[in-house]
Amino acid sequence: MSKLVIVGTVAFDAIETPFGKTDKILGGAATYIGLSAANFNVDQAAVSVVGGDFPQEYLDLLKDRNVNIEGIEIVKDGKTFFWSGKYHNDMNSRDTLATELNVLEHFNPVVPQNYRDAEIVMLGNLHPLVQLGVLDQMTKKPKLAILDTMNFWMDIALDDLHKVIKRVDVITINDEEARQLTGEYSLVVAARKIHEMGPKYVVIKKGEHGALLFHNDHMFYAPALPLEEVFDPTGAGDTFAGGFAGYLASTGDISFENMKNAVIYGSTLASFCVEKFGTERMVSLKEDEVNIRLQAFKNLTQFDIDLK
Ligand code: AMP
Repeated sequence: MSKLVIVGTVAFDAIETPFGKTDKILGGAATYIGLSAANFNVDQAAVSVVGGDFPQEYLDLLKDRNVNIEGIEIVKDGKTFFWSGKYHNDMNSRDTLATELNVLEHFNPVVPQNYRDAEIVMLGNLHPLVQLGVLDQMTKKPKLAILDTMNFWMDIALDDLHKVIKRVDVITINDEEARQLTGEYSLVVAARKIHEMGPKYVVIKKGEHGALLFHNDHMFYAPALPLEEVFDPTGAGDTFAGGFAGYLASTGDISFENMKNAVIYGSTLASFCVEKFGTERMVSLKEDEVNIRLQAFKNLTQFDIDLK
C-alpha cells in the first residue's frame, strides 16, 4: 500500500446554489481530497490547520475514513479558514463571496514523521509557500508530486506559485485558471506552456464538460458523466484530484496509460460529490455505487468503429 500525503484547506464553507443555501458546513480542499482518496487502498495523511472553533466531530469523520489527522494542527485561539461562494444558474461558474484566511495566515505545515517518505504527494489548494514547505519536508523525492491551485493564488502569490509549479510532476487546474496562468485561450497551447513551466503532465478540468490530460504530444479526454441531479459543485475539483491521486497511489503505476484510468476514477468520484450539498454525498458513498458508475462511464465512452 502506497503512502499519500495531502495538504490543503480544512474549512468552513457557506454555499449558495439555485437549489438552496447552507450555513457554515464542513469543506476545504484537503477534506474533499481525503474523502475521495479514501475510496482506495492507501495510507493517507492530511496536513492542514483549523481553529479552536472546528468541531471534533468533523476531525473524527476524516479519521473514521482512514485519513491520518496528526498533521492537522489545531490553533485553539484561532478561527478556521472560511470560504463562501454563490453559483450561477448554469452551475458551472461561481462567485466567491468571502475568503477569510484566519489560521491559514501564519500556518507552518508539519508533515508527520512517518509520512515524510510518501510515494505520492497531493498539494491541494492552499498558499503556494505552504505547498513548497510540504515538498521540502519530504525525506526522499516522491514518485509523483501533484499540484492543484486556483485563481485566488494566481492573483496574490503568482511568483511563489511559479516556484511550486516548477517542482511538481502533475498539475490539475480548471480551464479558466489555465487560461489565466498562460494568457492563452486554446487549452492545447495553454497545456504546452504549462509543460514548459515544469509539470510533465497537465490535467485541465472543464467542470460538466469533463477533463483533459496532456503529456508531451499525447492527449486524453474524459467527459463528465451526464447527471440528472447537480446540486452543489463545490469540491468537485478536489474530489477529482483525490480520486486521481488515490488511484495512482493504490496501483503504484504512474505511467501515462494508468493516468488515463486515474482521470476516469477522478471524474467518477467527482460525479457523486456534486449530487448533494458539501461533503454529504462523499461521506455516504459505497464501493458498489462507484463500480456501477464506472461501468456507466465505460458504456458512455466505448465505441467500436471499423476503420478501412
Ligand atoms: P473546488 O470546488 O474543488 O474548487 O473546491 C472548493 C473548496 O475549496 C471549498 O471547500 C473551499 O473551502 C476551498 N477553497 C476555496 N477557496 C480556497 C482558497 N483560496 N484556498 C484554498 N482552498 C480554498
